Amino acid sequence: MGSTDQHTHAEPPASPKPRKQEQEPASEEVTEVAPGVLRCQLPISMPGLGHVNCYVLEDERGATIVDPGLPGPRTLGVLRKRLASAGIPLKRVHTVVVTHSHPDHFGGAGWVRRESGADIVTHKLFHVFWDRNEPPDLDVEDLAALGSGGEEEPLRRRRSPWDPPPWGGPSMRPPLKRRLLMRGARRFPSLARTPRPTVRLDDADRITLGGREWVALYTPGHTDDHLCLFDPADGVMLSGDHVLPTITPHIGGYVRNVDPLASFFNSLDKVAAYGSQVTVALPAHGQPFADLAGRAKSIQEHHLGRLDIARAASEEAGRPLTVSEMSTHLFSPRAQGPMADSETFAHLEHLRLLGAYRRTDTDEGYLYEPA
Ligand SMILES: [Zn+2]
Ligand SMILES: [Zn+2]
Repeated sequence: MGSTDQHTHAEPPASPKPRKQEQEPASEEVTEVAPGVLRCQLPISMPGLGHVNCYVLEDERGATIVDPGLPGPRTLGVLRKRLASAGIPLKRVHTVVVTHSHPDHFGGAGWVRRESGADIVTHKLFHVFWDRNEPPDLDVEDLAALGSGGEEEPLRRRRSPWDPPPWGGPSMRPPLKRRLLMRGARRFPSLARTPRPTVRLDDADRITLGGREWVALYTPGHTDDHLCLFDPADGVMLSGDHVLPTITPHIGGYVRNVDPLASFFNSLDKVAAYGSQVTVALPAHGQPFADLAGRAKSIQEHHLGRLDIARAASEEAGRPLTVSEMSTHLFSPRAQGPMADSETFAHLEHLRLLGAYRRTDTDEGYLYEPA
C-alpha cells in the first residue's frame, strides 16, 4: 500500500535537492539513540522514504519493538538479523508498539506476533482501512475525540484511496497486483497477518515498556489513530510520523476526520507543550533530534504558509477553483497528482470549516472560493 503512506514534499523544491535524512537507505547498524533505547533501521521503498526506524526497548522479560516495518518475510528476516546482532532473539519480543495505521509501521506487527506471541499495542482507534471488522463502530465519545464538528459536520464515510475522490480528479488506484493482495488481506486478515491490537491505549494512558513508564499521547492529523509515547523521566518522545526531522507528514482527505489539518495543528501544539521536558525526539524516519517544540512550530508555519498561498491564488484567479487547479498553486509540478490533490483538499476543507471558504459540489467535483 505504498501509495497511501503519504509523506511527501517538504519545503518547496530547491535545486539541486540534497537527500533528506528520511530518504537515506536503512543502516545495518543497531545503535543506542537514547539511554536504554536501541534503534534498528528496516528497509522500505515508499515515495520519499528509504527506511523506517524500529526502536527496541529491553527489559527482564525480553524486548518491546516500535514500528516493525512493512509486512512480509523480507522485513521479518532483516528484523530478525538486526535484533540478533544486538543479542535479542526475535522470539523474545513480547510487545510490538504500532504508532499508526500505515503499512511501514504496522505491517510487520502480525508477522512478529506469529513468531513470538507478542502483544500489539496501538491507539484505541487503530484501524487498517481495508479491514472492515476492526474496530467496531465508534461510539460518540470517540467521534468527539476525532474532532467531529457535531451534527452539521458529521464524520466522513471512511474512504478507500482506490475510489474516485469526491473532490474530483484521479484516484490513487494502485496497480492490479497490489489491489488483489489487499483484497485478499481484507477477506483473509489472519492469512495476511493483518495485526489485531491486543492493547488499545487511550490518550494519557500510562504503559510500562522497557522498564520505564510511558505516557500515551493521542496525536491525530497524519492519520486518525496516531500515537506518540513520552517518557517523562528521561524526556524521550517517540514521535512516529507526527513530527519528522526534515519532511512534513502527509495530511490528506482519506481519513474520517473532517478537519485533519486542525487536528494536526492541535497535535503539534500538544507535543510542543512538552518542550523543555523533551531531551530527544525519536522519529519513525530520519535521525533523533532535540528541539521538538521548534520543529513542531516550523511544520505548523509551513502549513500556514500554504493556506496563505491558497488565499492569494483564489484572489488572483477571481473565480472558484477545483482542487486540482488549486493544487498547481500549492505544489510543484513534480509533486502533482492524487496525493497532492488529497493534501490540497485537506487545506481547503480547513479554510471552509474556519468559515473563510465556500464549497460548491458539481458533477466534476468540488469548487472552492473565498466566502
Ligand atoms: Zn505514516
Ligand atoms: Zn511512515
